[in-house]
Amino acid sequence: MEAVDRSTIWPYDGDGEPRAFFYARYGHPTGAAAEARLGELEGGEALLFASGMAAETAVLLALAGPGATVALAEGAYFGTSVLLRSLGRWGIGFVEYDQTEPPPADADIVWVEAPANPLLTVPDWEAVSAHEGLVVCDATVATPVYLQALDRGADVVVHSGTKFLTGSHDALLGAVITRDAARAEELRTIRTQTGVIASPHSAGSLLAGLDSLPRRMRRITATATELAGRLTDHPAVEHVRYPGYSGLISFDVADPRRVETRTRVITNATSLGGVNSTIESRHRWEGDRIPAGLLRLSVGLEEVDALWEDLAGALG
Ligand code: PLP
Repeated sequence: MEAVDRSTIWPYDGDGEPRAFFYARYGHPTGAAAEARLGELEGGEALLFASGMAAETAVLLALAGPGATVALAEGAYFGTSVLLRSLGRWGIGFVEYDQTEPPPADADIVWVEAPANPLLTVPDWEAVSAHEGLVVCDATVATPVYLQALDRGADVVVHSGTKFLTGSHDALLGAVITRDAARAEELRTIRTQTGVIASPHSAGSLLAGLDSLPRRMRRITATATELAGRLTDHPAVEHVRYPGYSGLISFDVADPRRVETRTRVITNATSLGGVNSTIESRHRWEGDRIPAGLLRLSVGLEEVDALWEDLAGALG
């Protein structure tokens, strides 16, 4: 366990020169330690941000400009499309496309999500890696345990570290990883200028989360695989989506509000990736972008039979 240094300033050296750390908006020791660990796992240079959305905003401010078009995976995280729509005012165009098909040829940035939250499609990596534009992959749900996106053809990986990477629903965190030193520098500059660096607390939560990440993800996958199978066989469930790894399952029921408010082990709350399972109807946030009956279940570390009993009771 590393101690979290919560200072915002560190003294200059004896000649009055700044040392490696001098003001926390530029960087701090806990953040640097966590960036080194995450960078090693992803195979690139990692930078931490105040949230997943802060990381996404920094990517767009640093790497897109007026006149650029972003092709975003349909059914990817709702907030990404909301952000892109807002940035239209600054001249960044955006279209949505089916990521199981090749991306639009004229896009300057292809933004995929692997797998997409909550529709759980995966990108056509062959087509994506052949595309001439910059490829950004949101790998929040896969985590580096199941996807080395930089090896598959992504130029930039983004994460909401609020989810599986920290794993305890106690830290808002974002991360960007790239192998391109010039892009990393641009991202660092934007991060400093806009002040959207992760807090030392969140960086400490990432260090703790990464210690158990592979073991958590393996157990979560085993449990989610079993639950996805049982849900598929349940008469009240219409359509189960599960990519075969990680902890996100989405499925359709006639009355999602009734089911989500009847679980007791699984918390009826938003977000995903925690050691405690959560479930919610996504219609309340996403409207008709997704099926009205869709429930998103994020599987945690509880016993599989306890989770199934809870789900079956709520569905019954
Ligand atoms: N990307 C994905 C796939 C997400 O699920 C989320 C949040 O739900 C985000 C990005 C945004 O992350 P944050 O809530 O940490 O800003």
